[in-house]
Amino acid sequence: MPDHLALQPGQRVSIPFGRQSAMGLVVETGVEPPAGIELKSVYSTPEPWPALPPETFRLLSWASDYYQHPLGECLFTALPPALRRGRPAAEKPDTWWRAAGLPEALSANAHRQKALLTWLRERPAGAPVSAIVAAGFTREQIRTLHQKALVEECAASGKAPDPASPTPGPTLSPAQQAAADQIPGPDGGFSASLLFGITGSGKTELYLHYLKQQLDDTSQALVLVPEINLTPQMVARFRRYFGHRIVVWHSALNDGERLSTWLKIRNGEPVILIGTRSAVLLPFTHLKTIIVDEEHDSSYKQGEGFRYSGRDVAVYRAHLNQCPVILGSATPSLESYHNALSGKYRLIRLEERAGNARPPTISLLDIRSRPLEGGLSRPTLQAIEKCLAAGQQALVFVNRRGFAPVMMCFDCGHMVECPRCDTRLTYHRRDRAMRCHHCDYQTAATEHCPKCQSEAFKPVGQGTERTEDILAAQFPDTPVVRVDRDSTQRKGSIQGILKKVNTGEPCILVGTQMLAKGHDFPNVTLVVVVNADGGLFSIDFRAPEQLIQTLLQVSGRAGRGEKPGHVLVQTCHSDHPILKSLCQGHYLTLADQLLAERESGQFPPFRAMAIFRAEADTMANSLALLDTLKPKASVTGIEVWGPLPALIARRADRHRAQLVLCCDNRKRLNQVLAHLCQDLDQQKLPSGLKWMIDVDPQETG
Ligand code: ADP
Ligand code: ZN
Ligand code: ZN
Repeated sequence: MPDHLALQPGQRVSIPFGRQSAMGLVVETGVEPPAGIELKSVYSTPEPWPALPPETFRLLSWASDYYQHPLGECLFTALPPALRRGRPAAEKPDTWWRAAGLPEALSANAHRQKALLTWLRERPAGAPVSAIVAAGFTREQIRTLHQKALVEECAASGKAPDPASPTPGPTLSPAQQAAADQIPGPDGGFSASLLFGITGSGKTELYLHYLKQQLDDTSQALVLVPEINLTPQMVARFRRYFGHRIVVWHSALNDGERLSTWLKIRNGEPVILIGTRSAVLLPFTHLKTIIVDEEHDSSYKQGEGFRYSGRDVAVYRAHLNQCPVILGSATPSLESYHNALSGKYRLIRLEERAGNARPPTISLLDIRSRPLEGGLSRPTLQAIEKCLAAGQQALVFVNRRGFAPVMMCFDCGHMVECPRCDTRLTYHRRDRAMRCHHCDYQTAATEHCPKCQSEAFKPVGQGTERTEDILAAQFPDTPVVRVDRDSTQRKGSIQGILKKVNTGEPCILVGTQMLAKGHDFPNVTLVVVVNADGGLFSIDFRAPEQLIQTLLQVSGRAGRGEKPGHVLVQTCHSDHPILKSLCQGHYLTLADQLLAERESGQFPPFRAMAIFRAEADTMANSLALLDTLKPKASVTGIEVWGPLPALIARRADRHRAQLVLCCDNRKRLNQVLAHLCQDLDQQKLPSGLKWMIDVDPQETG
């Protein structure tokens, strides 16, 4: 470290790396090099302050340790790509635009351009690009207007105008107020609250009031959400309350937007950040509150590389930072609920719907001996018909996209499998394709059995496309709107697709889990679950929990407005205890049952768990690596299961196996994992053999 540089941990430095230079981060200073090691000198530092301030740095070091992931990768995850590449930590100034023409100059169908021009005309001093984008317009629209000479660049004039003028929301109901009063404010230091609020109980409204009341003008707050693109209404609601203070963080931001938001946070601007998982790693300096919405959602857990849980890191961060964290959900994870029962978290219950809405009624419809029309029973179709006739909307939940999960030959029994995975191909009729949902393989669909050429080659089971077709045929005068990964990818955004639904006119929504997430459709009064049985008999110990959460979340889309809602669940196991309890609609009662099962099996959250996974060109190689690990892992206090092939043993031609470690004591497990990882790091493995570690795994198959 050259004398003229006063370096601190978390600071970016340019260092010699081989014959080139690279961007690095200072981890520690004042360390004596080991004997016989000669050190090269740091070249320079791009800024005299640490890109990662002390608290963020400590958080990342902890996470590296806890998740057994290399520190360097953890630290760099917290930097925006521009800073990783060594670019200066400064923003290009925002260009300001103002109107230079009249909306009448535009053609009648240029609605968005007209809207933008009108918006600018209401702001004579102009607005910076960031505010224009925040108001819901695109850069492309600015460019087009510029080409038509209808807008012009102008000088920045002080503070950017708010994208929308703040409007106060409804006052909290007595139940909401009572819940809000139980949540400690930032002055009380660390606290963790689990807000159990049934669907439609007004949790979002409660967050807004809490932040309005508790945050002073200098504080920062973080609101984690599972997926922003699925719920843009939520961001809009926050903007109506807080205007400019709201900034967002998600994977669709470009590098410039990322850097700009990152700098605001690092500079301590009093922002309220709404972001997905990785937002929890950002360099806040005045963080006073963390909210984790839909805390049960599995997308908080990163599935590859640095496999952290955004929710769990959020709780640790609140602890480091001595501020409150609020975990909100209508279907809390068993982990969080267990923490609430054991007194680690405060349990706050909000069990009334907001406004005049009532919780929906749920009933099971046994379909064992009923004739089905594309998976839908007569009574189900009648219920949909009645709902539409009353001028309301129905939502049909199918848990698989595509047309049918499999194509089968009724002569020879052949089913088409993925050549690269141990799975079957899903038939997508819209594109006449057979696709693997586990790798990117696809092939053209055929009309005959590829094996025996029989014409009795037919789709089996239900996918969203097939249900859409059946419903369109049954209800020819009603729009059917499909929402799944395929339809949202094609049409660009979920907003466009949902336009029809938002008019409130009778229609049928068909879709996957995507529909379960936080949407507010006031005119949906009927929810149909086509088949509830998928998770009932899975070998994954988390499957029943996830099934219940999904079913209650989809059910929660019914009856959010004035009219009562009803949920029809089709099943072949109407006497299954889980489904019977579901009809009572009391999540915590179900959660108690599920926790009892977890306890008797000694599964998380009653013990800590980690999984070593191996993948190689052959199963033998994968298993062999884990076999060498097993005796080293089998030490006092650790229970080891496996090694066993993964549930989908071959995926994209890689053969996967796993070794599960369980322990009563987290610290002990962490020590053993550290030791095992070190050991693996030092081994020279055959090429193509890879291992990874997953601490607190969400997927255990
Ligand atoms: P959640 O996040 O629990 O699903 P929301 O906050 O989205 O619930 O509220 C559900 C619906 O109830 C929304 O349409 C919201 O505007 C409305 N709402 C929430 N709180 C109130 C209130 N105090 N008075 C009237 N309407 C409310
Ligand atoms: Zn055949
Ligand atoms: Zn495949």
